[in-house]
Amino acid sequence: MKKIVVVGGGFAGLNFVKELSKYDGFQITLVDRNNYHFFPPLLYQVASGFIEASNISYPFRRLFQKKANLRFHMGALLEVMPEKQYIKTSTGELPYDILVIASGTRTNYFGMENVAREAWPMKTINDALNLRNHILMSMEKAVRAQTVEEKNQALNIVIAGGGPTGVEISGMLAELGRYIAAKEYPEIQNFQGHIHLIDAGPSLLSTMSKKAQTEAQKVLSHLGVLIQTGVSVKDYQDGTVILSNGEKIRSEVLIWTSGVVANHIEGLPHLVTGRGKRIVTDAFNCVEGYKNIYAIGDISILNTDPAFPDGHPQLAQVAIQQGKLLARNLKNLASGKNLNPFRYNDKGSMAIISKFKAVADLRHFSMKGYFAWLIWLFIHIIPLIGYRNKAKLAFNWFWSFINNNPTLRLIIRPGKISETPLTANEGHAQDPEIVH
Ligand SMILES: Cc1cc2nc3c(=O)[nH]c(=O)nc-3n(C[C@H](O)[C@H](O)[C@H](O)COP(=O)(O)OP(=O)(O)OC[C@H]3O[C@@H](n4cnc5c(N)ncnc54)[C@H](O)[C@@H]3O)c2cc1C
Repeated sequence: MKKIVVVGGGFAGLNFVKELSKYDGFQITLVDRNNYHFFPPLLYQVASGFIEASNISYPFRRLFQKKANLRFHMGALLEVMPEKQYIKTSTGELPYDILVIASGTRTNYFGMENVAREAWPMKTINDALNLRNHILMSMEKAVRAQTVEEKNQALNIVIAGGGPTGVEISGMLAELGRYIAAKEYPEIQNFQGHIHLIDAGPSLLSTMSKKAQTEAQKVLSHLGVLIQTGVSVKDYQDGTVILSNGEKIRSEVLIWTSGVVANHIEGLPHLVTGRGKRIVTDAFNCVEGYKNIYAIGDISILNTDPAFPDGHPQLAQVAIQQGKLLARNLKNLASGKNLNPFRYNDKGSMAIISKFKAVADLRHFSMKGYFAWLIWLFIHIIPLIGYRNKAKLAFNWFWSFINNNPTLRLIIRPGKISETPLTANEGHAQDPEIVH
């Protein structure tokens, strides 16, 4: 039995192990710092209290229940030891014949220390729950504030990054402010906090069509979101966000969705990295310089797909397709068959902007509005793991959309700081780790 160790149970790692576990001849161990898989596209709905974290997460051990050749090891990868064919994790060492690295990316603060310390990222379930708490705490602070200036500062929200995540959370927070704050916070009814959406590029949703960009700008402006493009966040000091055009915005909440950088892998001296510090691989996802180490998903980049000479976008579908293909290729390798190079089958991209409004760039055409929103809902329910999660999410959405009143606005702040996460770059300096 070949020992396959996979680091990271996101879209890439999980699809890889699910596919490979269908074949005999492999003993597979999935290593992850969390004991669950989660669905990042809906993190912003957890952060805004619209759905529960458990709606979009699923425990690995439950998934592996009936798989005799699949094991789970909870721990954070610390180092690869290629000469010994071992990896060192925060919870022990593991031997491998073949190593698959699928540990994704982390938030990129572009070297801005104050921003890294004080802003609120949106990469993990912990981030989303921390942000939810912080927004709710800021609203309570606004209620207690004595001066208009203090109230506005507590209510202002700045979102850095006008990609799909920034657009989606801006729209959702604007709607929650409109429908819920007015009903539940009588003390601040007359104080209008502002949602500022800042993007360094020339337009929102820069990777999507012109039609999608114009629609996002129009719908968010209509909801009262103040949009600035061609401007970047330069610093965040003493509750003031400083922009590249010199403007200063007093705000307790800076949400950071501006970019990611590949997680660093210790112990691989021959590693070649490309754009965004991604690990360069050949057409079969084999890491350059190593014969039995592969990298898939967001952490990797390959330039051999003729349709994507500069590498693929960091998207769920790329990760899923790479995971499945690598599993089939390893099986082919073991049985002496030819390997297939990775070619991305681009199915398009979507973003939800507000209640009943979304934009979709599909392979041959773009669409916007209510129909695009319905497709968005459908597409985001299908890939969730577990029928219970799908049904719960569908019900939550149905209920929240019709009565405009999701009830998850709970501030849960356990006093004892948990030992997870296992790496230092998670959690937040200001808040204790949330155990949900
Ligand atoms: C907020 C948000 C919204 C998004 N929306 C969309 C969208 O709408 N559509 C879309 O196509 N894409 C979207 N993406 C991008 C998409 O989620 C990624 O492209 C995809 O998750 C990449 O999959 P992956 O398996 O490579 O990495 P990930 O999904 O990031 O998985 C990495 C895994 O590795 C684990 N890990 C990390 N470091 C270690 C370590 N040291 N040791 C052990 N385990 C480790 C993590 O816990 C995680 O389980 C979004 C991303 C975010 C953050």
